[in-house]
Amino acid sequence: MPQSLSHSALIDIANTFGTPLYVYHAEKIKSQYEKLVNAFSNSDVVFFYACKALTNVNVLRYVRSIGASVDCSSVNEVKLAMHAGFTPTNILYTSNGISFEEIEEAASLGVNINIDSLSNLEKFGRKYGHSYPVSVRLRPNIMAGGHLKISTGHDKSKFGIPVEQVGDLVTLVKEHNLFIRGLHIHTGSEIKDVDVFLKGIEVLFEITPMFNELEFIDLGGGFKVPYKEGDEETDINLLATKVAEAFASHPNPNNRPLQIWFEPGKYLVSQAGYFITKVNVIKQTGSTIFASVNSGFNHLIRPMFYDSYHHIENISNLGGALKKYSVVGNICETDSFAWDRNLNEVSEGDYLVFYNAGAYGFEMSSNYNSRFKPAEVLVKDGVPHLIRQREEFNDLLRNQVELSF
Ligand SMILES: *Cc1c(COP(=O)(O)O)cnc(C)c1O
Repeated sequence: MPQSLSHSALIDIANTFGTPLYVYHAEKIKSQYEKLVNAFSNSDVVFFYACKALTNVNVLRYVRSIGASVDCSSVNEVKLAMHAGFTPTNILYTSNGISFEEIEEAASLGVNINIDSLSNLEKFGRKYGHSYPVSVRLRPNIMAGGHLKISTGHDKSKFGIPVEQVGDLVTLVKEHNLFIRGLHIHTGSEIKDVDVFLKGIEVLFEITPMFNELEFIDLGGGFKVPYKEGDEETDINLLATKVAEAFASHPNPNNRPLQIWFEPGKYLVSQAGYFITKVNVIKQTGSTIFASVNSGFNHLIRPMFYDSYHHIENISNLGGALKKYSVVGNICETDSFAWDRNLNEVSEGDYLVFYNAGAYGFEMSSNYNSRFKPAEVLVKDGVPHLIRQREEFNDLLRNQVELSF
């Protein structure tokens, strides 16, 4: 797998900061961002980093410094983004099923808001009328994405206002004189096929004439990245060409140029992240050799949660003979990271590195089994910086209210 941090750099970092450890490479985030910007250089595009993938404020600050905007999934993410220096105009809040109070809070901060239900849109209209421009998330009824659990645009998905309810949407807009500034779709994650985006665009272009104050179309995120040797990624250049063609042949009915928004999460940070673990135990049973590492789905839940593949390497024995291992964790629950995986012979104490660990890795970690969350390190200009301390025992008790019996 092509990687931007060397094995020896990863070993040094693990020796310095201990394991389990998340390591992110700033310049890799930047090069991914630049691939997007360059591909779309002929279109009027804004990229909002979908920060739920990884919200460490140093990563947010770095992403801001390279020029990206940010997409948030909770008002707390909005506040983190503001803490990291993003201005409200560069923050988009794509809400889903949230209370109207939270929408009001986001509005009080002045950020862009995407609303995904008729119910909240009606409340929004009653309170703000035309005074607060807003965008709406639609459900285009398209099946897309690498796994059902990460598909969000199909006709059974909870996300967005189903496109067949656009009549009710338009009625609401008229009734409350809403300022609909944008239409949004996000159909899933790990969408390799460019046509999926084009299908979404087609669905949106059918209804754009119903909204006469549109300024942008938001096509969401979900670009696929490679997870293993030979894996394909979304062809961003092809996407840029096709999207530009589609927009050129569907001018905004109100004659204003339509800006294009995207919300890449994984694409920006997945490959920039490495999760380094240490092997606690080697156990031979029947035909299987287990390598148990000092982690589990409490730290990296993606394989157990949605069958994701993470390439794993034994960076402590790179020349060693290949053998098959089941890589598992150390929590009291089945927490397999990989089955029958070819690894250079593994010994207790070796470092196993999980690739593509930048997106939805640390961010989905928990304290299950009362274990500490890992530390995080950001490598920038070749220098590793600790950006989150490893938890310690007091962290487990922090918010507990202790009674004495
Ligand atoms: C999660 C999410 C994204 C990012 O998805 P990736 O697959 O990480 O690119 C973008 N937009 C919305 C609304 C999301 O919920």
